[in-house]
Amino acid sequence: MEYEAVIGLETHVQLKTRSKMWCACPNRFGEPPNTLVCPICLGLPGVLPVPNEEAIRLTLLTGMLLHCELPPLARFDRKSYFYPDVPKNYQITQYELPSTRNGYVEFEFQNQLHRVRIKRAHLEEDVGKSFHFERHSGLDFNRAGVPLLEIVSEPDITSADMAYAYLTALKEILVQGGISDCDMEKGMVRCDVNVSIRPKGSDRLGAKIEIKNMNSFSGVRRALEYEIGRQIAVLQSGGTLTQSTRRWDELTGTTEEMRSKEEAHDYRYFPDPDLLPLAPEPVWLESLRSRRIELPLDRKRRLMQQYGLPAQDAEVFKSDPALAQYFEALAPNVRTPKLLANWIINNLRAQLAELHSQQIAAAQATDPDAPAPPPPSLDSLRFPPDALAELIELVENRTLSSSAAQAVFAEMFATGRRPREIVEEKGLAQVSDPAQLEQLCEQVLAAHPGPAEDYRRGKAAALNFLKGQVMKLSRGKANPVLVGEILERKLRA
Ligand code: ADP
Ligand code: ZN
Ligand code: MG
Repeated sequence: MEYEAVIGLETHVQLKTRSKMWCACPNRFGEPPNTLVCPICLGLPGVLPVPNEEAIRLTLLTGMLLHCELPPLARFDRKSYFYPDVPKNYQITQYELPSTRNGYVEFEFQNQLHRVRIKRAHLEEDVGKSFHFERHSGLDFNRAGVPLLEIVSEPDITSADMAYAYLTALKEILVQGGISDCDMEKGMVRCDVNVSIRPKGSDRLGAKIEIKNMNSFSGVRRALEYEIGRQIAVLQSGGTLTQSTRRWDELTGTTEEMRSKEEAHDYRYFPDPDLLPLAPEPVWLESLRSRRIELPLDRKRRLMQQYGLPAQDAEVFKSDPALAQYFEALAPNVRTPKLLANWIINNLRAQLAELHSQQIAAAQATDPDAPAPPPPSLDSLRFPPDALAELIELVENRTLSSSAAQAVFAEMFATGRRPREIVEEKGLAQVSDPAQLEQLCEQVLAAHPGPAEDYRRGKAAALNFLKGQVMKLSRGKANPVLVGEILERKLRA
């Protein structure tokens, strides 16, 4: 019997707000424990939560980016449970009436377009963090009350690799959309993974097994690979699978059971009496639409269509909106957008990467523990964008050979000087003047009658030798294409 996997993901994402969800404490990572707390996020009795409007905006904006419905009414509920990192003994979340529902994420996977439906993306709050030491445990509430978006997919994913591709696409949308920085290292994205298997082609769902609290996409992929294999082995050996929750063990690369369905919590959800329902007004929603970005995949497809870019180039611009913007601002000023894309993707990016590694080395030379400086931005470039257009024109009209153009680019990147200025000063301009080239070719033909004769007798390779001699004579400045044409014409004559 052949089996197929059915996977649905619940992805928790910390929203990029300045303050927490219900209080004015900063939403910030990496501060000393319990320094970003107040009576509200510590869950002390008698305090009142006040919703963070920006968090609600980011939730609805996410709904728009994920093609969701935005219901006219949403509500916050209390989800009751006892755990040391939840001091209120309940988490505020949206249960029955989420702010967004019924959308989808579109992404490319193995050269095909896929759609994973989104059941809902609802707003809730993050909880504190427990630390376990040798003889005691500690709690840090800096994270308690940070706005958290839970994005629940339908079980539309069919493999570990597809889950990885979905998560990558989702993250790209959220980061570029300004919703979340999605910094995995800072725990800004966590995932609950639901997976079942069924006979291939069946339309019934198997017993759902949930792997809780994954904090890396590669971990999700590995856990799924293991778990799918395990479930198939259980069924093949005549066993049965029941709905349960498991834990991924990074070290052993296996999952182990935490609890079965019978032990599942009853959270006793009920509307939070401290919070009014949300009914976003049309004008308010309209004002949000201006913050909606073009989706990365839409941009990729548009750039391919509008400028004739190959998929590979457009893919680079899909994941780097700043680079794409740079490209699109200059594209009207050049004859061949594809050539501009090459310069940006191959040369500009390489120079920026080189500069970045120099900056990292410099920072570490003064302080080995210093955090790596961020990559240099396009705004910090020494040359103005139109200088790149100028350089490309010099290549297009054959003033510069491609190797000379590289040298000019390196110089303008380092100093910010104009390409024409550099070309003139260094005498890099290619010789394309026919009269000058004719003369050089005649000189070479006169000096090498042997190879000329060889070519006439049909030895095509002799042309390259003669061309090389002309290039040498011109100290590399002759336009090689024109030299080839002239030599051929003369030899045929
Ligand atoms: P619950 O109500 O138990 O939380 P939901 O129906 O809301 O379950 O689904 C939670 C997550 O589990 C969703 O991402 C959903 O796509 C996924 N899921 C549900 N049933 C299955 C199944 N049989 N196999 C794999 N994933 C599933
Ligand atoms: Zn607080
Ligand atoms: Mg939840």
